[in-house]
Amino acid sequence: MKVDWKGLAQGMYNSIAGEKWIKELAGYRMDTFCGPCEHNSRNAKSSGRYQSIRPDDHCILCGCNLEWKTHQLSSSCPDSRWQAAVTKQEAAAITAIMDKKDAE
Ligand code: SF4
Repeated sequence: MKVDWKGLAQGMYNSIAGEKWIKELAGYRMDTFCGPCEHNSRNAKSSGRYQSIRPDDHCILCGCNLEWKTHQLSSSCPDSRWQAAVTKQEAAAITAIMDKKDAE
């Protein structure tokens, strides 16, 4: 299981300080796909199929925290249920533009 820590850091940033459209995209991903998914650790624990000491809701296929993963623009579902909004390079460029805008 390979976790994209750099991408998740971007998702964590976006979940706190991201633009409204990013939060809306994350909400759509969570409400439509990850929330009801059987691979969501919360659902898997409830059904007795999965055990973990991790307290956060995470994807049991990729290990990513779902709050951060859904806010990461270049992230995608490991089970092909939803796709990346942009490439990793585009996500980095968008973040740089937002950082510059925030600094002005
Ligand atoms: S990322 Fe995909 S597989 Fe993982 S919890 Fe979300 S919808 Fe399910």
